[in-house]
Amino acid sequence: MDDIADTLRLLQESLRRYVEKEVLPKAGPWEAQGFVPREVLREMGRLGFLGLRYGEEFGGGGLDARATALLAEELGRSTFGGFAITVLVHTDMASPHLVNAGSPAQIRKYLPKIVSGEWITAVAVTEPDAGSDVKGIRTRARRDGGDYVLKGSKMFITNGALADVYFVAAKTDPEAGSKGVSIFIVEKGTPGFSVGRKLEKMGWRSSDTAELVFDDCRVPAENLLGEENRGFYAIMKNFQNERIAIASMAMGEAAKALELTLEYVKTRKAFGAPLWDKQAIRQRLSMLCARVEAGRQLVRHAAALDAQGRDCVKEVSMAKAYCAELLNDVVYDCLQFHGGFGYIKESAIERMYRDARVQTIGGGATEVMLEEVAKRL
Ligand SMILES: Cc1cc2nc3c(=O)[nH]c(=O)nc-3n(C[C@H](O)[C@H](O)[C@H](O)COP(=O)(O)OP(=O)(O)OC[C@H]3O[C@@H](n4cnc5c(N)ncnc54)[C@H](O)[C@@H]3O)c2cc1C
Repeated sequence: MDDIADTLRLLQESLRRYVEKEVLPKAGPWEAQGFVPREVLREMGRLGFLGLRYGEEFGGGGLDARATALLAEELGRSTFGGFAITVLVHTDMASPHLVNAGSPAQIRKYLPKIVSGEWITAVAVTEPDAGSDVKGIRTRARRDGGDYVLKGSKMFITNGALADVYFVAAKTDPEAGSKGVSIFIVEKGTPGFSVGRKLEKMGWRSSDTAELVFDDCRVPAENLLGEENRGFYAIMKNFQNERIAIASMAMGEAAKALELTLEYVKTRKAFGAPLWDKQAIRQRLSMLCARVEAGRQLVRHAAALDAQGRDCVKEVSMAKAYCAELLNDVVYDCLQFHGGFGYIKESAIERMYRDARVQTIGGGATEVMLEEVAKRL
């Protein structure tokens, strides 16, 4: 076993312990209040879970995409998708923008507090009129002396209300399509920036999702992240990471849903015997277990290619499409085999069923993923 395999195994054990002890028994109220308490992220920071991919000089773990896959799978196993996505947006969807494109001064200013969980991050690309089609965003960033002035709004932003630091996509050259997008660092409290409506969702209820409003929000030019007009490419690059995280999270959720269902059907009796004795049920569950194992291997393969620095857009897109759709198949059948109890609010399966639905949409809809695959066949 090489060093990284040992490190990942130890990481998996400590994540699993953390989730079982600190999340599973405590996360019910987070669903009701609509957000994960800040203290939870701080504790995860203290335990070293928030900077797995970042340099040790910033308190990070110096690991690669295989650690993202592992973190996402273990958080997915928590059965609370809203908790998992809160953390994963911070670690693997928002903060990588800083590390990939930030200047040394920007990284020094923000990264230590991101890794420690003191500052929560969000990434704001989607708008009311543009989601899948990123180049269609309309938020404008106009240069004015030593500042940029942002005007527009953002939609469906995870960690939208609670974040301290936002990575915001805006058009610096509105005529140039994908070649006119830039990314800006916007801190909470910047005049002209406000959090709009908090959005009520079907699932992921412990994740805070909000609209953001930029009304002549002035940020200093030094808050431009990376090069002007190169933001679209930065977003596309980071999508690989995001999609590995969402696919792997889906496989953690699916594996856990199957475990809960296996336990249930082995004890629940109908027609004089456990449900497990029905061939139709045990064969259906066996096939789902096989598909989840296949999905897990696919996403791990994509993460391993990413770790080697190889082009893996096709594999990552396959994994995101396959795993998100598979999760929905799994929770559908798992709820079915729980019978009426599966439909009752206090059962984990009821929540997992609702949580799963967004995963074929967020971070790249299945159809968009399949177009990425098709381009490469
Ligand atoms: C809970 C939640 C959290 C989110 N968090 C964030 C966040 O933190 N930051 C952020 O920037 N965004 C976030 N999003 C936005 C998310 O990434 C978008 O919803 C997603 O990219 C789809 O965009 P859209 O909703 O505008 O759908 P549209 O782009 O309008 O597409 C609607 C549907 O059309 C279909 N479709 C789209 N394109 C094609 C195509 N080429 N071929 C065939 N069919 C197609 C798909 O079925 C798609 O679901 C979040 C969304 C949700 C629901």
